[in-house]
Amino acid sequence: MTDALDVSARIGPGLVDLRRRLHRTPELGLHLPDTQAAVLGALAGLDLEVATGHSLSSVVAVLRGRAPVSGERPVVLLRGDMDALPVSEEVDVDYVSQRPGLMHACGHDLHVAGLVGAARILHEMRDELVGDVVLMFQPGEEGPGGAEPMIREGLLEAAGRRVDAAYAVHVYSADHPRGVWFGRPGTLMAAADEVHVVVRGTGGHGSAPERTKDPVPVACEIVLAFQTAVTRQFSVWDPVVLTVGRVAAGTKDNIIPDDAHVEATLRTFSKDHRAKAHEVVARVAQNVAAAHGLTAEVTIGNGYPVTVNDPAEFQFARDVVTDLFGGSRWADMVNPEAGSEDMSFVLDEVPGCYLNISACAVGDHTRAEDNHSPRAAFDDAVVPDIAAALAEMALRRSRQLAGVDAAVAQGAGA
Ligand SMILES: [Zn+2]
Repeated sequence: MTDALDVSARIGPGLVDLRRRLHRTPELGLHLPDTQAAVLGALAGLDLEVATGHSLSSVVAVLRGRAPVSGERPVVLLRGDMDALPVSEEVDVDYVSQRPGLMHACGHDLHVAGLVGAARILHEMRDELVGDVVLMFQPGEEGPGGAEPMIREGLLEAAGRRVDAAYAVHVYSADHPRGVWFGRPGTLMAAADEVHVVVRGTGGHGSAPERTKDPVPVACEIVLAFQTAVTRQFSVWDPVVLTVGRVAAGTKDNIIPDDAHVEATLRTFSKDHRAKAHEVVARVAQNVAAAHGLTAEVTIGNGYPVTVNDPAEFQFARDVVTDLFGGSRWADMVNPEAGSEDMSFVLDEVPGCYLNISACAVGDHTRAEDNHSPRAAFDDAVVPDIAAALAEMALRRSRQLAGVDAAVAQGAGA
C-alpha cells in the first residue's frame, strides 16, 4: 500500500531542488512569469487539467481521483502562494537570491515546492483518491492580492463542482523549533484595512486663523478621537488596533493649508468588529471635522478579511499532522496574529484550515529572525512534510466527504 510519507521521502530531494531554484529567482506581485513557468515545468508529465490565469500569473491544476465514488465527487482545494518580497537578502546560502532587492523572505518558495509535492503524491496515489483536488498556485499574496481575482476567474468551480474544503500551510522562520506545526481554531489572523482621511478646510495666512478653516488642529483631534473610540466603543475581548502611521499637511510655518491627511492601518479580528470599526472611523472623523465647521472625506480600502479556521476543519487538519508526525510536533496557538492573509478570501467562501509549520533554520528558534527580515532563513527539510500533509488532508477529507471507508478506498486501488 502506498503511503503519502513514503512518496514524499522519495521525491523530497527534487522538491528541495525546486525550492532552491525558486529561491534564486524571486518575483513580486501578480505577475510572476518565471515562477509560473517553473510550476508548469514541475507539473509537466502529470495527468492534470491545468489552466493559467488571465489577469494574473496563477496556475490552477485539477487532479482527478480514480477511486470509485457513488454520488457527487468531493472537491478539495490545496493552496500555495508564489510571490516574494522587496527585501535584499542577507542569508548566507549557496542558493541566495540572484535578483537584487528581491527575496523569498516569507518562504513562499517552500509553499510552491510543497504544493508541487502534494500534486506528485496525489498523482501517484490517485487510485485511492475518491474525489478531485484543485491545486491553487497563487501570486500576489503580499499584495495586491491574488485570491480574489482567482476566485473571480472560476477557481472554486475549476473541478466542475464547487470546492467542499480548502487547506493551506505557511512556513515560519522563527517562533518554534523546526518541524513543529501550529495553529488554532476560529480566528487565526486579522483583517487589515487602510484608512485615509482628508480633512478639507480653507487655507490662508497663519496670522489670521479666524479667516480660514484650519485643517491641522482638526486632523490632530481626529487622531486622538480615534484612540478614544477604539478603547470606549469596542470590547477588549475582540480587539481593534487602529494605528495612525502618517499625518501630513502644509508647507511652511505661517501658511494654513487647505487640507490635511491622516492615514491609518485598521486591524480587526471579527467580521462584526470590522464592520463596526469602518462605521466608527468614518463617523468620528466626519463629526470631529463638522464640529469645527470643516469636512472630512474618509476612504477605507478593503484589505484582506479576517482569516478564520472552521473549528471542525481545524480539528481534522490537526489530526492529520499529528497522525503523520506525532503529537510532539504540534503546538496550539493561544492567540491569533495581527498579520493578515490572502487565503482568508477562500476560507470566507468554503470551510477549511490554514496551518503553520516552523522551518526555522537555526538551532535556537528564540533567536531566529522573523519572516520578512532580510535575514529570515527557512530550512527546506520541511518541504516533503508539507507535501505529505497537504496530500493526506486531500485523501482523507475526500473519503470523509464521500462517506467512503479508508480501507475500501485503498482496496479499490490495490
Ligand atoms: Zn507569507
